[in-house]
Amino acid sequence: MGSHGSLLLGGLSIGAGSPIRVESMLKTPLADPEGCMEELNALHASGCELVRTAYTSLDQEPILARVVEKSPIPLMADIHFNHRLALSALTAGCPSVRVNPGNLGGEGPLREVLGEVEKTGAVLRIGANGGSLNRGQLERAGGDRGLALAQAVEEQLRVLLDRGFERVLLSAKSSDVGETVRANQLLSSRYGYPMHVGITEAGPLEEGTVRSSVGLGILLSQGIGDTLRVSLSAPGVREVRVGYEILRSLGLRERGAHWVSCPTCGRRRIEVLQWVERLRPLAERLPDGFTLAVMGCEVNGPREAAGADLGVAGAPGGFLLFRKGVPLGTWPVEELEERVQKALEDILIRRCTD
Ligand code: SF4
Repeated sequence: MGSHGSLLLGGLSIGAGSPIRVESMLKTPLADPEGCMEELNALHASGCELVRTAYTSLDQEPILARVVEKSPIPLMADIHFNHRLALSALTAGCPSVRVNPGNLGGEGPLREVLGEVEKTGAVLRIGANGGSLNRGQLERAGGDRGLALAQAVEEQLRVLLDRGFERVLLSAKSSDVGETVRANQLLSSRYGYPMHVGITEAGPLEEGTVRSSVGLGILLSQGIGDTLRVSLSAPGVREVRVGYEILRSLGLRERGAHWVSCPTCGRRRIEVLQWVERLRPLAERLPDGFTLAVMGCEVNGPREAAGADLGVAGAPGGFLLFRKGVPLGTWPVEELEERVQKALEDILIRRCTD
């Protein structure tokens, strides 16, 4: 299905060849604006490009307006049922709102929201979650939950298309991988609107990372998805990190350093697990796509990490440093951090002057 072109959401392009965007959602409530700003700044530093926030009370409009104004990332207000909240979020300057056009209270309220959306140039995200499918929707799909999910999104989309509105981002999410994949495949085969993808309520860090990676891996490798969120019971910055790692694994985007490290075994001569953590702050300052390797021994290390821009491998008497598989020297382990830092500086200075 062809694309309907990219959306511009608070200056951020989505779809039609734009990089696949990495989203998160504020875990801090708007009632704590300082906390929200702290979280937004941390998300921004981690590479997050779009943030959703729950907007639940009209009283918070001045707070929302302040946060929108100061936020380094565009905000999307998440609205349930109340069209006044949608209007208020738009008045507060949100470049996007997530609503269900079918439950805003009828034709009048819907027209009001669409009028305001047109006026402000905002983007509407619409969509359905597996958990909110009703019996009628499931029966109409013959019990096929993925189909029911896709049809639930189509119902909402039709409401907008009938009124000539197309500036939409679609989403069909479930905590079940198969259901989410099927719904998104159906929608993407029928429409060309930009799609937000994710596995919802995916679980704690480890479990959720696996489930999201499997689901998003299938969809993204089929070219489905223009923005993604990894939903984890963990800080938003972890969601963003996992999101980029999924994109990197598929060769779709680079963000920050790329790690190669061995799982260690009885041959190890350095404590890889500890060194990875100690070198992490250095790695966080490296340019996109720079590959840093930490390997336990010289037997397999340099060969298996031959492509690394810089690598460390345990060796008799300490560790050896290597660059693109070529050894640079061997030193005692006490000098590891300092030598890595120095080698990184040399490489990066050379890159800048080349
Ligand atoms: Fe074991 Fe060496 Fe391979 Fe690490 S690099 S897993 S220590 S053989």
